[in-house]
Amino acid sequence: MGEFELIQRFFTRPTPQAVLGVGDDCALLQMAPGMQLAVSTDMLVAQRHFFAATDPHRLGHKALAVNLSDLAACGARPLAFTLALALPEADATWLEPFSQGLLALADAHGCELIGGDTTQGPLNICITVFGEVPVGAAQRPGQPATLALLRSGAQPGDDIYVSGTLGDARLALEALQGRMDLPDAVLNVARQRLEQPTPRVALGLALRGVASAAADISDGLLGDLGHILQCSGVGATLDTGIAINLLATQAYFTRASIPFNYMLSPQLALQCVLAGGDDYELVFTAPAAQRAAVQAASAASATPVTRIGQIDAAPGLRLVDGHGAPVANTFTSFDHFKA
Ligand code: ADP
Ligand code: MG
Repeated sequence: MGEFELIQRFFTRPTPQAVLGVGDDCALLQMAPGMQLAVSTDMLVAQRHFFAATDPHRLGHKALAVNLSDLAACGARPLAFTLALALPEADATWLEPFSQGLLALADAHGCELIGGDTTQGPLNICITVFGEVPVGAAQRPGQPATLALLRSGAQPGDDIYVSGTLGDARLALEALQGRMDLPDAVLNVARQRLEQPTPRVALGLALRGVASAAADISDGLLGDLGHILQCSGVGATLDTGIAINLLATQAYFTRASIPFNYMLSPQLALQCVLAGGDDYELVFTAPAAQRAAVQAASAASATPVTRIGQIDAAPGLRLVDGHGAPVANTFTSFDHFKA
């Protein structure tokens, strides 16, 4: 199978929204009046971001999901994407499920594959997504005139929220790399989160005009919230008593039926939640006056959200337990696993 047959067979599809899709030197997108183009790129490199033996259907899903997650974080509606692919060989038994996983998620979000590049080389998947977001009034002087959710809008007193569940992807990674033992039922739940993350596109759209700042959680909650704090020039206090319950698989461990050698320490659970990475949930801030609106956005997008802290004027990130007592922040790295 040659390069062009490969593109034709697996990556050429009708593109009813785009003016021009795969097959010419450029694709063409028509922006609607009053809309800005939101653009983001994410690269997945074999062995660094995923195991080469990963189920190709799941890998196709994840490669696009991590990109859609960036659009979600900006409150942008997905329009289209390009796919730059380096492949060791043109293997139809790999390409078929890969393209199916990729295009199924694309269809679910109305996001059209409009072009790309294909080359022989070590497995590497690079996607660029294009989305649209309405022009809007600048939130403050010096801010861009957009309705996009930015990292720079958090204000002292704002609530901090996260969507969905956190930490399970990291738990799965620890188990798959042999650093911990998980019962099969738990590993299956956690592995789903690692390999098939859910981009929170509908929530991002519903939060436009409600959230003051947002980011998606790809490197861990503390790190990605840290970006919001840095860009907004503020600090924050987070409640670890709430955070620990964000681990979806935590429920399994609190059941008496799990054998002792599988028990997850609170420290390890918190590490996964606070610094795990690969979650692809949203962390966002909103003024306290918007609590009802945040709940409405959550309901409208069928996406659970949890309020986990507050933005402070004082810089820095403070962790407290369920009683408000300080908790030492030892969660910024995963060295504990390597001990
Ligand atoms: P060029 O040489 O002009 O860069 P190519 O010959 O590489 O173009 O690609 C031919 C067409 O196929 C282009 O429209 C390109 O966008 C598209 N294409 C190439 N690889 C992919 C891919 N992996 N997925 C989707 N479209 C692709
Ligand atoms: Mg080319």
